[in-house]
This record gives sequence, C-alpha cells and structure tokens, in this order.
Amino acid sequence: MQQHKFDTVIVGTGPGGEGAAMKLAKAGQRVAVVERYVRVGGGCTHWGTIPSKALRAGVQRLHRFASDPILSRMCSGSGIGFVDLMQATTAVIQDQSNLRQTFYDRNRVTIIEGHASFLTPRTLLITGPDGVQQVVEAENIILAVGSRPWRPPEVDFGHPRVRDADTILTMDFNPRTMIVYGAGVIGCEYTSIFRALQVKVDLVNTRDKLLAFLDDEIIDALAYHLRDQGVVIRHDEEADRIETRDDGVILHLKSGKRIKADVLLYAMGRTGNTAGLDLEKAGVEYDAGRGRVPVGPSFQTNVPHIYAVGDVVGWPSLASAAYDQGRFAATHILDNGADYALVEDIPTGIFTSPEISSVGRTERELTQAKVPYEVGRAQFRHLARGQITGETVGMLKLLFHRETREILGIHCFGAAASEIIHIGQAIMAQKGPANSLDYFVHTTFNYPTMAEAYRVAALNGINRLF
Ligand SMILES: Cc1cc2nc3c(=O)[nH]c(=O)nc-3n(C[C@H](O)[C@H](O)[C@H](O)COP(=O)(O)OP(=O)(O)OC[C@H]3O[C@@H](n4cnc5c(N)ncnc54)[C@H](O)[C@@H]3O)c2cc1C
Repeated sequence: MQQHKFDTVIVGTGPGGEGAAMKLAKAGQRVAVVERYVRVGGGCTHWGTIPSKALRAGVQRLHRFASDPILSRMCSGSGIGFVDLMQATTAVIQDQSNLRQTFYDRNRVTIIEGHASFLTPRTLLITGPDGVQQVVEAENIILAVGSRPWRPPEVDFGHPRVRDADTILTMDFNPRTMIVYGAGVIGCEYTSIFRALQVKVDLVNTRDKLLAFLDDEIIDALAYHLRDQGVVIRHDEEADRIETRDDGVILHLKSGKRIKADVLLYAMGRTGNTAGLDLEKAGVEYDAGRGRVPVGPSFQTNVPHIYAVGDVVGWPSLASAAYDQGRFAATHILDNGADYALVEDIPTGIFTSPEISSVGRTERELTQAKVPYEVGRAQFRHLARGQITGETVGMLKLLFHRETREILGIHCFGAAASEIIHIGQAIMAQKGPANSLDYFVHTTFNYPTMAEAYRVAALNGINRLF
C-alpha cells in the first residue's frame, strides 16, 4: 500500500477545506486535500448554496418576465418549471467547480480522490472509488467534512415523493403542490422558490414562529409576505407519520390534521459527516447523535493537532463562516498556536422572498440585556431607488445605543438585503467612537441607491432622541 507524507492533510473540499488549503499552500506547506466526491467544491457547490441560489436566480428571472405586461407574452404557456430551471443551474455548478479546481492546481495542492478514515491520530486511510487504498500521514489534519440532511429512520427517503435538501435537486417532475416539513432557513428558502414557481406550498413548522433567531419584526414580515404570496404556514405542528402513495404523499400531524401534496420536502436540520471517519481511532471526541465535532476557539478538537471547521462543528453552518474558519485554523497551524479570535458578529443572509439579512443583536436581546437602545427605520417604498425599480417591499432597521450612538444591530428585509447589510456591517465593525450612527448622517451616498436607506434610517432614529 502506498504511503505519502504531508505537512497538513485536509478532508473535504467545501469552503472550509478550500480556505484552509489555500492559506497553508501559499505559506509553503506541503498540503493534500482528500475528497470523496468526483469533483471539488464540497456540498456548498454541488448540493447546497450554489444550486439553491442559482435555482432561485432562475426563478426570479422567470417571475420578473411573467409579471411584466410585455415580456410575459413571451413566456405565457411556456410551461417552464422546476425541472427546466434545475437543468440551467448545472452550468453554474460546473463553472464554480472548475474555478475551484484551478485554485488547487495553481497552488500545487495534491487532491486525493477517495473516502478518508483515521488509522491513527496522524494517519488516514484513503479508499479510492476503485477500492484502491493508500495511507497519508501528516503533522496536522483539518476535518472539513461538512454535513448532510438529517434523516430519521422511520421516513421513507427512497420514495420519489419524499425528498430532502440533497434529493430535491434531482426531482424529475414539476410538482403542483408541496409540503415543506421544517421551517428552518433551508425550509423557508425552498418554500419561497417553489411558491414563485406557482407551486401550492404548506410550510409546516414544529415551532411557534419562523426563524426565531431573527429580530421579531423581521420574523413577522417574513410570515406576512409568505402568507401574502399564498403559502399556508402551520405553526406548532409535529409529524405523526408520512404516508406515501404513487400519486402523492400525506402528512399525518399529531394534531389530527392531514395534508396531501405531490411531494414532501423533509427539512428538519442536518447532521455532520462524521460517520465512517473512525474518529475513535484518533481519539477525537464527537457527538454521535448529530455528528458534530466540538472544537475550542481555535477550532482544535480535543486532539490538538486535529482541527475541525465548517458545518461539522455546528453553528452557524454557513459557507461564508466555513471559509473563514478554514483560513483561521490554517493560520493557527502556521503561527504555532497564535492567539487570535474570529469576529463574532457574522451576518446572516437568508434567500427567501423577501430576502433577509441581519448582523448584531436583535431588539429582543437588547431589551433582555437592558441596553438603552433606539430604533431607526427606512421603508424601501419611501426610497427613490425602490420606487424606480419597483422593489418597494422591504425595510432597513438600525438599532443603536441612545447615548453613544454605537450601532448594535442591523436588520433588513427586501431586495438585495444580503448586500445592503454589508455597508452597515463595515461601520459596526469599527472600534470605539468610529462605530457611530453619525457616519450615515454625515456621509454623502450615491443617489438614487438602496444605500440611501442608511441615511434615512439614521435620521429617523436620531429624530427619536431627546
Ligand atoms: C440548500 C442549502 C442552501 C444553503 N445556502 C447557503 C447560503 O446561501 N449561504 C451560506 O453561506 N451557506 C449556505 N448553505 C450552507 C453551506 O452550504 C454550508 O455551510 C457549507 O457548504 C459548509 O462548508 P463545509 O466546508 O463545512 O462542507 P461542505 O461544503 O459540505 O463540503 C464537505 C466536503 O467533504 C467531503 N467529505 C465528507 N466526508 C468525507 C470523507 N470521510 N472523506 C473524503 N471527503 C469527505 C464531502 O464529499 C464534501 O465535498 C446552504 C446549505 C444548503 C443545504
């Protein structure tokens, strides 16, 4: 059996693995990445962020056409549905994967195709797709193995009408009705996508509100707009059983209700890809239930030379965060354990309709912490740019300390919310008095733009002070 030695071996080529690999390779380390999928890019590129966002972009284009009085004539009766749009996303996935491959090639990172499992704390057994095995040894190992949809054993995921976030992408029919079971970020995003395709969606939530980690006003706005679009939201419901038939699926709820649809999307959370890694052989502790690997602030596991980054460590389970965590772990290796910390205020981008983004604390959190804050709001319908583009649904809300004017939280919904948030994030990240609402009052922005929302919201907030 072949045996190779590297400074660092990384398992997984999603954003976590890529961030780590590039940082280490550019610093001159001998780096290998192990990937069991046939192409690089990770779940992010092949089953998660990229396909869902490319699909959403296609749906939005179709929606814009269909709602335009002239252009709608071109697509009326075209019958374009999920299957056609999904085919169009394939090109984006390929482009992304090809691009990422060039990063590895250019930086001379060795890519080993196969499934990795531990033999000892410093050696991994790689089993290739042809069954051929090799051993790699490294000073440091970074686990960037990602996550997959959680699948309880009693649900028949082999049935074509029961899907999860991975298998929904290969659905080969256009449903007319759909049940989304689980109203987390993925459930809400797919609800918006399918509703925009005129699919009748029942969104079944096991909790009493949508996305409870968001600011209450944003949660209310999301629920209002989803309902306004025709989505039926059912809060505080739990599945009793899922009955599959040739012509559909019936969700039996513990409350006694029954819902029938062409397809059910099961979106009840995710589990880390730790199965088959043989973590026990390396002495790495993990939570077998949800497959998560606990890490300290430097992303080291309980075995100091083995790091874990990205979805496998749990919150926030975002591609954006995974990439930074990978780079951070790599920096920790290169600087021999230097004591840095990643920024805590990372933005949330939720690509529902309306789009949502926020950074910092919510009103609920500030009230609980007894922080004397004030609120400044700008409605998109009052902005010239919003009126010109017709993107009038939305709001920007700034939460700031009423004495120091320090920005404490930014919450936004509406078109391009996930872009708009970054303007405020840049100011909020400044130290001391540089983080101030006054920046938005004293700075000239381009006009007409959505950035103007910051000036409007800041003035609105300042007018509340006395
Ligand atoms: C539908 C959906 C939409 C999303 N939308 C967004 C979004 O808009 N914005 C955002 O920031 N995040 C989004 N996410 C989350 C984002 O995709 C993940 O947070 C991100 O992919 C995590 O990156 P990662 O590097 O940890 O793992 P992944 O990207 O999952 O990559 C892990 C890789 O490791 C490989 N692997 C696993 N085990 C082994 C092994 N034993 N041996 C060899 N290889 C192995 C896998 O094949 C995979 O390629 C979304 C997720 C989903 C499912």
